[in-house]
Amino acid sequence: MTSSEYQQCRQIHGVAASSGMAIGPAYQLRPRETHVLRRTVVDVAAEIVRLGDARRQARAELESLQAHVLATVSAAEAGIFEAHIVFLEDPTLFDEVEATCRATNCNVEVAVEVTFDGYRDVLLESEDELFRARANDLEDIKQRLLRILGGTTAGFDLLPEPCVIFADDLLPSVAVQLDRSRILGFCLATGGPTSHVAILARGLGLPAVMGLGDTILDLPAGVTVVVDGTNGLLVVEPSPELLQSYTTQIDRERTRRAKERIAARAPATTTDGTTVVLLANLSSLAEAEEAVASGAEGVGLLRTELLFMDRATPPTEDEQLGLYRQIAALLDGRPLVIRTLDIGGDKPVPYLRQPPEQNPALGVRGVRLARSEPQLLRDQVRAIWRIGSGYPVKVMFPMVASLEEVYWLRGLVAEIGAELRDQGQPILDRLEVGVMVEVPALALLADHVARLVDFMSIGTNDLTQYALAVDRTNAAVSGIGDALHPALLRLIAQVARAARAGGAAVSVCGELAGNPLGIPVLAGFGIHTLSMSPPLIPAAKTAIRELSLAQARSVAEHVVDLASTHEVRAYLERWISP
Ligand code: PEP
Ligand code: MG
Repeated sequence: MTSSEYQQCRQIHGVAASSGMAIGPAYQLRPRETHVLRRTVVDVAAEIVRLGDARRQARAELESLQAHVLATVSAAEAGIFEAHIVFLEDPTLFDEVEATCRATNCNVEVAVEVTFDGYRDVLLESEDELFRARANDLEDIKQRLLRILGGTTAGFDLLPEPCVIFADDLLPSVAVQLDRSRILGFCLATGGPTSHVAILARGLGLPAVMGLGDTILDLPAGVTVVVDGTNGLLVVEPSPELLQSYTTQIDRERTRRAKERIAARAPATTTDGTTVVLLANLSSLAEAEEAVASGAEGVGLLRTELLFMDRATPPTEDEQLGLYRQIAALLDGRPLVIRTLDIGGDKPVPYLRQPPEQNPALGVRGVRLARSEPQLLRDQVRAIWRIGSGYPVKVMFPMVASLEEVYWLRGLVAEIGAELRDQGQPILDRLEVGVMVEVPALALLADHVARLVDFMSIGTNDLTQYALAVDRTNAAVSGIGDALHPALLRLIAQVARAARAGGAAVSVCGELAGNPLGIPVLAGFGIHTLSMSPPLIPAAKTAIRELSLAQARSVAEHVVDLASTHEVRAYLERWISP
């Protein structure tokens, strides 16, 4: 592209959050707000019929949404819509709507609004977090009914056509409800590359640019945009020449990806004979199939908190068991690392009464939650043990910060295994125990940790956040929260060395593992198991096949001695594309 081509259109720079490019119409994803106008009606009976029709349509929409989420995400997420259907069937609620209509001769929209808001306010005042969480469900149903009664169709779950999603921010729980076949990419005003929406976008193989600023929210819906997730660029109304140039690049990219995907079925071995094992990071059942198709040799990180995100009650032991067993079966003998619930930080869940925290990333997150919710962790470890004989399943704990915690967690796994054995329950033959190394304190104690666990997986997303003091959800600092910072690389090198010396397996499951600049460095540090979003696996395998371990070692030795992120990036970019 020439600079004059660029000048003809508007470009907005943001943070490259998920690579790839897409062209399409912009779609502003905003929470729906429907304005209700009061009318005095003569024929109240006709209003009641309209209400009945709207309830039936709402039910049909919810059932189809439920089926879609069940097929593409998980039974747990599909359960959200079951709760909505229960509200739609509630006779007390709808008797009151009808009574309001009759008593005041108002249109049914007004009666729905008044009645639902009344119930919602009662729920919101409740002391009980679970009741308060139901207020959201009620609001959702109200908005759905008002939208149907008003004859409009656009909504979160009903995207009009394949489009580029524009939003301020996107909760992972909203993102999983979107119709993926209609999303071309994401442009967000806020957020950074290691936020969970960015991770989700990479999991979907969709381009994403974040931290674009509020102005993008004023773009009219329908304008043609190019989202360039590789370079962190949004182009608004590109010139015909520029559009042609991007179309050619997208076609070329598609052909390359198709070839790489076929080649990804084979293992990735360096030119001098070392095989690097590539695993997948998963947050849904649907991704498990995609992972195998993308050449994953197992799962290195199952983010279980995302399987049970948007619901009013914690997942039961049996519910968890069902889902884990399904994923283990889909993997057909490949290893599966299940990470226990990493709730808190930027992943709060409605089913826990977590009081607001000033600094949630530094608060009650991951295994720390077991202090206030011990049963949650016990149920989960029980469910994991119970997956049953013959599955190569491992358990991994997030947010571990001390050796005391490692001892406690190892003890817990052993105790629950013994308890289940005594109860005569069929359990795994063996359950390897691992920890995420994502708190700098644990990285510095890696030599001790290595003697206590079977494996350590370096979570570079949080390790970056905590070592560099950069909030991973804050777009304003995402530029300096770079895992290629030499201080981070030194920490990673140290963990790899300590793990080898202490006899623990070591891997990386943070986003650096799937970064083409990170791969040679990690391989050079002797980390030969990398876990990443499934769509990144084919390209990572290609990169490894073009690498010699001897070269990777000298690259790794060189970069740890550099003084700045800028120097590391410049060196690696030159080395990869001389
Ligand atoms: C990490 O912190 O690097 C990691 C893999 O965990 P998460 O992104 O889920 O916090
Ligand atoms: Mg983490």
